[in-house]
Amino acid sequence: MIVTALDEAMLSEQTTLLMAGIMCLVLPLVMTFYRQHRETYPGFGIWVGAFLCAGIGCLLVGLEDLVPVWVSVWLGNVFILAFPALLALGLNVFLNRPPLFAAYSASIAIYAALQGWSLVTGLSAGFRSALFTVFVFFYVVRLGFNIYRYTPHVLGRHDKLTLTVIAFGVVIVILRFVNLLFESVYENSFVFDDVDTIFIILLVLASVAMVIATISLNQLRLEFNLRTTSQELQEQTIALEKSNDKLAQLALTDFLTGLKNVRFFDSEYKKLWENSTTSGTPLSIILLDVDCFKLYNDSLGHLAGDECLKRIGEVLLTHPGFHRGLVARIGGEEFAIVMENNAEQALEEAERIVAIVEHLSIPHPSSLVGASVTVTAGVATRSSLDSSREKLLSRADYALYHAKSLGRNRAMAA
Ligand code: GH3
Ligand code: MG
Ligand code: MG
Repeated sequence: MIVTALDEAMLSEQTTLLMAGIMCLVLPLVMTFYRQHRETYPGFGIWVGAFLCAGIGCLLVGLEDLVPVWVSVWLGNVFILAFPALLALGLNVFLNRPPLFAAYSASIAIYAALQGWSLVTGLSAGFRSALFTVFVFFYVVRLGFNIYRYTPHVLGRHDKLTLTVIAFGVVIVILRFVNLLFESVYENSFVFDDVDTIFIILLVLASVAMVIATISLNQLRLEFNLRTTSQELQEQTIALEKSNDKLAQLALTDFLTGLKNVRFFDSEYKKLWENSTTSGTPLSIILLDVDCFKLYNDSLGHLAGDECLKRIGEVLLTHPGFHRGLVARIGGEEFAIVMENNAEQALEEAERIVAIVEHLSIPHPSSLVGASVTVTAGVATRSSLDSSREKLLSRADYALYHAKSLGRNRAMAA
């Protein structure tokens, strides 16, 4: 009584399969529609083929009463088995794994041969479903393993949705197998048929979820690629900014001595001047000029002259005495130092530098001053008389000229 009522409430297995077949033919249409509107990755087309096979397979099996047995039971099941096989194959392609076309084709061929053999020899339906389940199990395990193992390379993380759907599918296939085994033991039971119908419906639901999962895989990959590209772009921008900074730095550096060049000096001197005039901090300039440098070049050569300028540059670069000092090479053999020191300190520093350069003892065979290279310094400190920074600079220049005229190798304040 209960069994009959249940049976009436349920669709027959055949009807369910036909409905499942039609449903599975709708799914490739949905996927094709998606393909036309979004970028899809290699492998997606194989998945569309997988759902097509599932649809055709379900229809063939569902038409059991109308078509020859080899078409429904043999060909139908081969088509249905192609479904998980193509899903696994498509996933290999999607994840840039070796596709293993030959292996998948061979396994389907083996299944087809065994299924044919079981039909010819009249083996039970239980055996056939066991055979089917073993193959399905193999494919879905491959699917699950590959998703778990290789999706992070392509998506940047595991795809949990697809894994869940696969686990769901595996459980249903196993349950259906168990049910079919019992069905073949207790033949002609209505209950088994009905439960089988439920499993087929669940499998159709799993297929719908699988389509969603494939689209989501594709979507995740699109997003991941977009993220990676924008990250690469960001890294390139940072590298570009760094090299720009370096270039800007180079544009303000004197290539020979490594000191700041005249361009940097101009802008920085302006800032220091403005700061000094507004805050009232002292500001001093030392102008340094190498003595008899033309004669040095003439007697020892231009290259030796360059080396000599480099050594004087090093002295200035490493000299600790300038408070917030700006040190630059502003002409051929002329250097300028701007610092926030008062007149007395500035003159002391200038004298110290003149002495240090002399103590370098760089031989100068034709100098009018002595046996080695010397420098002369002119010093000026900002006072109320200096109406502009140019004025201060020209006072330092005048002091330098004066020191030169007094015999060089000395420092003088304006
Ligand atoms: P004074 O003691 O009066 O300053 O005499 P001076 O010979 O140093 O002055 P002058 O201005 O006549 O000569 C400067 C020389 O500096 C002329 C030029 O050959 C040399 N010079 C300028 N720039 C460089 C450079 O980058 N490298 C070398 N080796 N020599 C340079
Ligand atoms: Mg000069
Ligand atoms: Mg000179």
